[in-house]
Amino acid sequence: MPKTREPTHAAPTTLAKIMATIGPASESPEMVARLIEAGVSVFRFNFSHGTLDEQARRLGTVREAAERLGRCIACMGDLQGPKIRVGRVPEGGIEAPAGRVVVFRCGLDEAFEETDATGEHVCALPTTYEGLVREVRPGQRVLINDGAIRMLAIDATEDELRCRVTVGGLITSGRGINLPESDISAPALTERDWICVEWAVEHGLDFLALSFVRSPDEVLELKARLASLCTGASESPIPVIAKIEKPQALAHLSEIVQAADGIMVARGDLGVEMDIAHVPVAQRRIVSQCAFWGKPCIIATQMLESMVDSAIPTRAEASDVANAVFDGADVVMLSGETAVGRHPDLVVDMMRRIVLAAEESVRESPNASSPPEAPGERRYRTAALAHGAWHVVADVGAKVIVCWSQHGGTARYLSQNDFRLPIVAYSSHAPTTRRMALLKGVTPVCADPPPSGRLADWNARVDADLLAMGLAQRGDTIVLVAGKPLGTVKATNSLCVSVVGDGASGFRSDSAQR
Ligand code: ATP
Ligand code: MG
Ligand code: MG
Repeated sequence: MPKTREPTHAAPTTLAKIMATIGPASESPEMVARLIEAGVSVFRFNFSHGTLDEQARRLGTVREAAERLGRCIACMGDLQGPKIRVGRVPEGGIEAPAGRVVVFRCGLDEAFEETDATGEHVCALPTTYEGLVREVRPGQRVLINDGAIRMLAIDATEDELRCRVTVGGLITSGRGINLPESDISAPALTERDWICVEWAVEHGLDFLALSFVRSPDEVLELKARLASLCTGASESPIPVIAKIEKPQALAHLSEIVQAADGIMVARGDLGVEMDIAHVPVAQRRIVSQCAFWGKPCIIATQMLESMVDSAIPTRAEASDVANAVFDGADVVMLSGETAVGRHPDLVVDMMRRIVLAAEESVRESPNASSPPEAPGERRYRTAALAHGAWHVVADVGAKVIVCWSQHGGTARYLSQNDFRLPIVAYSSHAPTTRRMALLKGVTPVCADPPPSGRLADWNARVDADLLAMGLAQRGDTIVLVAGKPLGTVKATNSLCVSVVGDGASGFRSDSAQR
């Protein structure tokens, strides 16, 4: 977004942000624009599906649409990690009913059906991981498509693994395979992942998500690589989102949350890798750890899954989205619904309306007035200021919180304090403003600081911007959090209360000091 453009876009309709996976169903410029207008703040580029050239085209489409609509939109790359998938299956897929024998074979190009030597009708399947045939033992489960299709290994030879389907379904190309009982010897980041990491840096993606995280070291390894690839002095390395989808990650949750820049509750694989009965409990625990450490939390997978085909969600899905908001999620994510679904724009619109209704009820609930818990990083000046701001905002009845957040830290801490109000966050660093699109409640504004660097001079602009954005009216009280000179990193040290339309009154003492 050019810095000269005045922020005229409408206020964010929801505080929690909506992330949508881009795919064949949503990659046209018209659909991307419709999704942004329906409420998408962040697009997810899943490196598991499609070529890098396809992703580059989609990235161009998203950036052009964001520019045209004058919106700060973030793009997140999702690294596949050691995920095993079904190889090529003929168009239309293969139906594998319960009782059918499925044979995984090394070196197979495409799936086919045959009657084997024993006279049994079998389905031969290729996979993206040759080791599967050797590493899965009879008696262990093989699960396809986030566990929707289930089978049990019954026999293994040198180059063949025979399984019997226990829960049947249609098998199509590229579906994920989970082996919850098998010990698989694959690294956290595969060769292809490292290629995607370099691509992400070259193309300036705003976030990278790391799949199947087991320990904080894996997050730190990726961050170290990103730091080494980030050469420009004014650049800051791409932030890393750790996907929680293995029980091992839950055992090191606090350390992983601290190491990462954000967390995704990747319920698809999590619900297969652990007992699905415990996934909702894990989700709540992850959200509260994120709030404690001031990191954004994304809830993902099957949120409105039935809308892949249907024009309305199930009641349970609508409740799931609302409950994610009640739990305190920062972002709700759509996967197949927008990537390959029939109605990507209807899904986003539905999600926005459910989030809005949930947030309205939260605002009106009697415990809306309970202050947030002290943050884990309370010794940091910015974390403490953001935490303290909650009481000031409540006491003066502020309508909006405004901050200068050059590298996004102040906006992130404010966002985690659950003001249930819009937070307008300024920075002159364009990548920072895009990254702030992930933060709950935050409307990013890309702008140069006033030449004087004085807070008083900025205050006048803030009033004009808030009025233009329709976020406040003359006479409304607002709370500002910043440091001086504006535009410097790690300068945040002041909080002030101001009235819209009173111009520089809020920071008068600042100008007097100079
Ligand atoms: P992950 O574990 O990272 O979530 P996934 O395979 O579940 O990987 P999603 O992005 O969650 O992928 O999408 C859900 C489903 O939609 C996938 O199983 C896949 O079949 C389909 N899909 C998603 N993106 C594409 C694409 N670009 N091309 C074809 N199919 C896609
Ligand atoms: Mg998925
Ligand atoms: Mg996954």
